[in-house]
Amino acid sequence: MQPDTNAQPSILVVEDEPDLGRLLQLNLAPLGFKTDVAPDLAAARRGLRAQERVLVILDLTLPDGDGLDLCRELRQRQDYTPILILTARADETDRVVGLELGADDYLVKPFAIRELTARVKAILRRVDLARSFQADPQQRLLIGDLVIDPTSRGVAVGEQRVDLTATEFDLLLQLASNPGRVYTRAQLLDLVWGGSHGSQEHTVNAHVNRLRAKIEPDPGEPRYVHTVWGVGYRFRDPRVEA
Ligand code: CA
Repeated sequence: MQPDTNAQPSILVVEDEPDLGRLLQLNLAPLGFKTDVAPDLAAARRGLRAQERVLVILDLTLPDGDGLDLCRELRQRQDYTPILILTARADETDRVVGLELGADDYLVKPFAIRELTARVKAILRRVDLARSFQADPQQRLLIGDLVIDPTSRGVAVGEQRVDLTATEFDLLLQLASNPGRVYTRAQLLDLVWGGSHGSQEHTVNAHVNRLRAKIEPDPGEPRYVHTVWGVGYRFRDPRVEA
């Protein structure tokens, strides 16, 4: 395939409801995306082989299988194309499993189209942020009043230096370098604690509470570290979401 740098960025929508597929196509076009719709997993696999995608919007209940399988396949072959899951399933387990398989975000059907376009923009914006952070992991993160310096492992809120334990710092850095991304407690245990300490999920809650007490202007109404009920935590960055 000939790389074409002028090509419009392409989104693959995996969705078996034709009306919804068309609706997404229509609404993503004004954002500058060319959108292909795959009605099942087989078409999705072809669509992913055919060209590079900036995002996959993935329905879970498909005629020939479970969208989560596609999510697992991509991540197993180290394809980190962002994935936004669409689920009509009320069960929170799917969202947790989807995120643990490496999906970037999820939306529960039915959703407002504005909500979807906002999520798409947020995911792509934070992919850019994450890329710039990976290019220079030593750069300071400036988020609202919060300053995080990976080199000195220093944190300040406004002018005030904050003393964090090593674990609190690692937890904050993990969350803040991927703003908007929802992490399950199991993922955070794995990423921050290394998953080898037999740590329990309540350990994560306890550390989040201590971190909030230190960095949040009002820990009862967190500005930075938000709870995602039934799922985990996410860091809110005003640059990524209004
Ligand atoms: Ca479906």
